[in-house]
Amino acid sequence: MILPKSNRLTNDQLNEITTLVSEFSCKIQPIIGAVRTIYAIVGDERDDLMINRLEGLSYIERIDRIQSPFKLMDKRSDLASHRITLGGVTLGEQLLVIAGNCTIDPKNPNYFYETAAAVKEAGANMIRGGVWKPRTNPYSFQGDVKSLDILLEGSRRTGLPVDTEVMEESHIQLALDAGVNCLQVGARNALNYSLLRAIGKAVGERKTAVLLKRSIHMGSISEFISAAEYIAAFGNPNIILCPRGTTPTLDGYRNHPDESITPLLKEKTWAPVVVDPSHSVGKASYVPACALAAVAYGADGLCIEAHVEPSKGIGDDPKQALTPAVLAETIRQAKAIWQLRR
Ligand code: PEP
Ligand code: MN
Repeated sequence: MILPKSNRLTNDQLNEITTLVSEFSCKIQPIIGAVRTIYAIVGDERDDLMINRLEGLSYIERIDRIQSPFKLMDKRSDLASHRITLGGVTLGEQLLVIAGNCTIDPKNPNYFYETAAAVKEAGANMIRGGVWKPRTNPYSFQGDVKSLDILLEGSRRTGLPVDTEVMEESHIQLALDAGVNCLQVGARNALNYSLLRAIGKAVGERKTAVLLKRSIHMGSISEFISAAEYIAAFGNPNIILCPRGTTPTLDGYRNHPDESITPLLKEKTWAPVVVDPSHSVGKASYVPACALAAVAYGADGLCIEAHVEPSKGIGDDPKQALTPAVLAETIRQAKAIWQLRR
């Protein structure tokens, strides 16, 4: 990783280092951080001659050679000072709450608009709403691109940023062009490296965040952070890690709740952790306790499914969405635990 003396290299300087590393079959990938841009060397960067030549350039402060499988996401990385702000909340400084429908119902957009207003009132900082849905059953509703307009209208009406899952490369540009603030990578796609790479690249100079769910099978901590490294290595450092329960399930819960991995993640990576208690336990009555446990474990935020009338919802909402009243109380208690932990 190349750290320049200035906040950003000039085009001439970037061209010079690109040519230099290409002699060693490497490429340069700029990673635009909140304060300064750093330059990842993509390829085998162990060649001492290449490193010596780079270090000899007057505009280079130093070359960071962290021995880690995830050198950008590692706690020791220069990116560790990177901060992500969504809905006025800087992760790590305040608890971030994302809430909203599992699935936007394109036939009844008012449920989404009413939910968006209600979750804002309950204290959420960002709205979630599924446009495209990964469904276990191929005959279930798979989402509808029309819901993208509904999602953004919900954002306009509330003034809050929005999060939605992208499942295919073709969804990424549609979501970015619409103005989605956070792209969600679901548990089924969490190890889809070509999708992760495409998300890293597509975001470019935008500040769009990525909520990366933990893969559905009990992936190791390193596997989870390495998936995030794909997104960072291709250009986007605005990554939030989202434990959401894994399989095999804990009998009675939808998945095996994994909010307890939060401290293990934090030992290795600087990335903020936003836990999804809804998919972890899969039933509305169990969600608040899981949400509070996540905050006790050190989570920086929560992503919770909520609906003004869960029984009228689609997707997961009838079984696991919180009503606005329960959401409001959960947020109140979660903030209290968050304060205690500080
Ligand atoms: C969702 O957020 O509605 C969802 C499908 O999540 P996951 O990928 O965690 O199952
Ligand atoms: Mn869901």
